[in-house]
Amino acid sequence: MLRDFKQEVKAFETQHLRRQLRIMESPADTTITIDGRQLISMASNNYLGLANHPAVRQAAIEAIEQWGVGAGAARLISGNMAPHVQLEEDLAQFKQVEATLTFGTGYSTNLGLIPSLIDRDGLILADRYCHASLIDACRLTKAKLRVFHHNDVEHLERLLKKRGKACPTLVVTEGVFSMDGDLAPLPDLLTLCQHHDATLLIDDAHGTGVMGLKGRGTVEHFGLNPKDVIQIGTLSKAIGTSGGYVAGTTSLKEYLINTSKAFIYTTAQPPAIAAATSASIQIIQNEPDRRQRLWDNRNYLYSELKNMGFQLTNTQSPILPLIVKSSETAMKMSQALNEAGIFVPAIRPPTVPKNSSRLRLAICSEHSNEQRLKVLDTLCKVGKQIRLI
Ligand code: PMP
Repeated sequence: MLRDFKQEVKAFETQHLRRQLRIMESPADTTITIDGRQLISMASNNYLGLANHPAVRQAAIEAIEQWGVGAGAARLISGNMAPHVQLEEDLAQFKQVEATLTFGTGYSTNLGLIPSLIDRDGLILADRYCHASLIDACRLTKAKLRVFHHNDVEHLERLLKKRGKACPTLVVTEGVFSMDGDLAPLPDLLTLCQHHDATLLIDDAHGTGVMGLKGRGTVEHFGLNPKDVIQIGTLSKAIGTSGGYVAGTTSLKEYLINTSKAFIYTTAQPPAIAAATSASIQIIQNEPDRRQRLWDNRNYLYSELKNMGFQLTNTQSPILPLIVKSSETAMKMSQALNEAGIFVPAIRPPTVPKNSSRLRLAICSEHSNEQRLKVLDTLCKVGKQIRLI
């Protein structure tokens, strides 16, 4: 008999944990249209406003004219086209590494990388707040998986010391944590890894384009040498397109081309997306003022929200999470903001730990002063109504 999922869906509903799709009637921008209503979007990871940038669009259009839409095959069969190769060179130059390898999404990058790096004789130590794609990737391996308390270097050290006989060890963290917006203590993690002969893997999905003087990510922000770590990232956030990449050495790239299932057994990314991504990376490098605007917006909104009395996480990035705790209140607040013309998603378990539901504001370089003021004014009113502040 086919299982009926109605009970399960009903249970999500009663616990205020039901997730539902909305239909966007406009491109990713600071103003979006949903159900015919215009809303200020505080919900997109399009940090630098590149997802719908004219030059990025134009690059995609021109590449479609030249290369068509689908790649038609996996990279190793007949899907490896000039835009894919160019993008990997551009990314390597941007991330200041020897080589990069691209994948269909950030999610599949993690699934494609970690199982190739470590096997049954290995140990993975992952931060408790690592993204679902990292945890899934770790579980795909036969290595032992241990989780360390969030950003707790001492706990990690204890686990490394407990390792017994030396075994291949991978330490997995995010550069900027996606739901809290805080940074991993990368210099301390790296020192520890070097001392214990472990490899540090950084998922810089939310750091690339945002952190560091040139936007190269958290490795640049902390002044680390990219040669000392393996980085993965997504093309879908500040870079504004779609796909993911591993940034490391040429030999790592060659090894992955030969071993990574999520690379080998999947069709190449559409070439136009690769071409658009190259255009986007040029803009990130040529227009540092975009990043400046992003940080001006972020710093202004952060200090105003703090002054209003909102409880924020220990964020150090353009992700501003307002902690509400109960999922029901988070939903109510998101709804009230929506009615007032502002779109802020409620983030609930299992994405975040129980009793830490939050409204996650994602700041963009292109939010205008008028939008900033409206967001602050509305959050103040709604926060008071709901007795959060
Ligand atoms: N890693 C992290 C830390 C993320 O936040 C995300 C996106 N939510 C991903 C990986 C997956 O990236 P993509 O959306 O490109 O699949």
